[in-house]
Parts: sequence; structure tokens; C-alpha cells
Amino acid sequence: MADSSYLKWPFFEPRHAQLAQELDAWAAQHAAHVHSGDTDGDCRQLVRALGAGGWLRHAVAGAENGGAGAQIDTRAICLIRETLARHNGLADFAFAMQGLGSGAISLAGTPEQKQRYLGKVAAGEAIAAFALSEPEAGSDVAAMACEARLEGDHYVVNGEKTWISNGGIADFYVVFVRTGEAPGARGISALIVDAGTPGFEIAERIAVIAPHPLARLKFTDCRVPVTQRVGEGGEGFKVAMRTLDVFRTSVAAAALGFARRALDEALQRATTRRMFGGVLADFQLTQARLAQMATQIDSAALLTYRAAWQRDQGENVTREAAMAKMTATENAQQVIDAAVQIWGGLGVVSEQPVERLYREIRALRIYEGATEVQQLIIARELLRGASA
Ligand SMILES: Cc1cc2nc3c(=O)[nH]c(=O)nc-3n(C[C@H](O)[C@H](O)[C@H](O)COP(=O)(O)OP(=O)(O)OC[C@H]3O[C@@H](n4cnc5c(N)ncnc54)[C@H](O)[C@@H]3O)c2cc1C
Repeated sequence: MADSSYLKWPFFEPRHAQLAQELDAWAAQHAAHVHSGDTDGDCRQLVRALGAGGWLRHAVAGAENGGAGAQIDTRAICLIRETLARHNGLADFAFAMQGLGSGAISLAGTPEQKQRYLGKVAAGEAIAAFALSEPEAGSDVAAMACEARLEGDHYVVNGEKTWISNGGIADFYVVFVRTGEAPGARGISALIVDAGTPGFEIAERIAVIAPHPLARLKFTDCRVPVTQRVGEGGEGFKVAMRTLDVFRTSVAAAALGFARRALDEALQRATTRRMFGGVLADFQLTQARLAQMATQIDSAALLTYRAAWQRDQGENVTREAAMAKMTATENAQQVIDAAVQIWGGLGVVSEQPVERLYREIRALRIYEGATEVQQLIIARELLRGASA
């Protein structure tokens, strides 16, 4: 395992350090080398392996539903994402999406919904997806247009969702739709739509710089039983925000994992690359760069684990999670860029670890709230405090 001294920080309990160490050993054997080029197949394999290894239990809440505990342990999911991201970005993605895709059910599902979906998610036997974004409603989520009309004991769904991770391979999708109980954000509901439901189709698979299953979804008079609604009618926006609240800090943790791997790769290269009668690490310019990378990682880690710890104490973390997500993703981008520079020409060769990291990190600065959106959240909280 690379630097693990942070596991002794006071944010963690002994069980957290044990979890990280056990997962590190597991991931080296079962996840690090899953790169066949068949992204869908790799993803399915990783979900099954993570389920069989018991790691997905941490992605769902409630022991009676196959979860590791009554609530989702934020520090545990952060350590899991950080460790998996260090070994293989797709393994982190597979874990994260099981949690995000089933998060609404963990938080607000009926006992029947929990029983039907969560056990399979935890076992890696069902793949989950979270469908909120639309072509005209990304950062401005409340502008969503996909609608569901109530007809007897069914909703009839029409519209589109896009950028949906696991789109095309998921077994079920938690879809946020406009149901019109009230204007704006108070007129949205969450529905579970099983893959294969008539009227629901994958309209397009989307290829991105770091391959992940991703799709645009289309609904045409798609009938979904009212019993598949998660939470009350009109409560969907709140359910979506509560779900993102749990997982936002874990995006920071994934960025941290990518950055730690980049620093390990940079150190390895700088200490072995021979030049000018010595090695690259002999030069103070290199040393300054390495020092900056390590400091950017520790600052991001402190913010990330502060937010995770604070959430596990039951406190509000709106500001702290936004600071963690913004800093960890922006710092990771810079750390990875520095690692590519240290690797020189080899740093841009396809499928070299630092080249892969360079592509993997980019989307994290955009999804689950772009950096600019995090800045607005932090400023809003500050200004609210200042005027109180
Ligand atoms: C790889 C990937 C996976 C994704 N997975 C999912 C998923 O599983 N489920 C899902 O629902 N969605 C998913 N998304 C969608 C993601 O959440 C959106 O891309 C994101 O919310 C941004 O929306 P947008 O792309 O429409 O960009 P826009 O909303 O058009 O924003 C473009 C840019 O504008 C800037 N900006 C935004 N707001 C402001 C502001 N107020 N002031 C100044 N600048 C601003 C930011 O730089 C932002 O990046 C995914 C996206 C990607 C790239």
C-alpha cells in the first residue's frame, strides 16, 4: 500500500483503517487488472466481484437489506472510493454507481422497495442507475422537463434523461420526473423504472474520454406503477438532493485516490529516470513539484475527511462537502498533470497509468455539481452566516 499515514488521523476509527487495508489487498488482486477494453463487460465483472467480496454492503443502508450498517458510513464509502480509484477508475465507478443509483431507495424507499432492490445491489446481482440530468437541465436541475402523468394506479412517463451512468447495463433506474404537485422543484417525484419496461429505451450510448457505460434515455408513454415511487409525490427533488449529499464527499475521495496514484507514479519515475548524470528527482525543480503535489493531496484529504467525519456525526455538511469536492477534484487535476509532465513522452502514451488518470479525473470537475456550482454553494453559506 502507498502512503497510508492518513489512516491514523483522528477522523477515523480503527475499523476504518482495517477496511482500507483489507480493500487495498483485495483490489490489487481482483480489480487492478480489469481492463479488457469491453467497458460494459468489465463493469459487470467488477460489480459482481465487489458484491462477492462484500464491499457493496457499504453502498446500501440497513443490515436487513444486506447493508453493512443502519446508515451509510460516509468515512467508509470515502475510503472505499479512494482505494478503488487508486487501483482502477472503473472499479471506483462500479462501486459509486451502486450507491448513487440505489441511494434514494436506501434513504426514502418503502420496506417492499428496499427488500426488492437493495439486497441485490449489495450482492452485486443488480446494477443501479441514477437518472436526474436532461439535455436542457444539468446544473439547473429544477428546469427538468421529463414528466409523469398520473393515470389510476400508474404514472405515464414521457421525456428524456441524459449522461446517465450505467445507462445500457443497469437493471433499474431511479428516474426523477416532473409530476406537477407544485411549481418548480416541489413538483418532482422519484420513480424506479426497471430495464425492459415497455416505453423505456436507451436512445443513445455516449462515448466519453474515460470510457464508462453512459447513455441517453427516452420514455414514451412508459407506464410505471405508483408503488414504484420513492418517497411522496412532489418530494423527488428533496430525495435527489439528500442522495447527492451522501455521495458528494465521496467524489472528493475518488479524486484523492486518482491523485495519490499519480504521486506514487511520479515518485517512482522521478527516482529511476536517469538524466544528466543522476536521476530526475535530484533536481530541485522536480523536488518543488513533488512537494507541491503532496501538499495539494493532504489539503484535499483533510477537507474530504473532515466533511465525511462531520456527516457521520449527524451534522449538516453542505459547505464542507462543497469545499471538499471542489478542492479535491481541482487539486487532483493539477497533481495528475504534474505526474504526466514528470513522465515526459511516456506520460501521454495510451493506457499508461498517468495517461489514464489524466482522462479519468476530468469529468469529476463537472458531475455532481461543477466546480462553479460548488463555489456558489460555499458563497451562499458564507453570506447567509454573514447576514444572520
Ligand atoms: C461522465 C459523466 C457522468 C455523469 N453521470 C450522471 C448520472 O449518472 N446521472 C445524472 O443524472 N447525471 C450525470 N451526469 C450529468 C452531470 O451531473 C452534468 O453534466 C452536470 O450537472 C453539468 O450539467 P451540464 O453538462 O448540462 O452542464 P451545464 O449545466 O450546461 O454547465 C456547463 C458549465 O457551466 C458552468 N456553470 C454552471 N452553473 C454555473 C453558474 N451558476 N455560474 C457560472 N458557471 C456555471 C460550469 O463550469 C459547468 O460545467 C454525468 C456527467 C458526466 C460528464
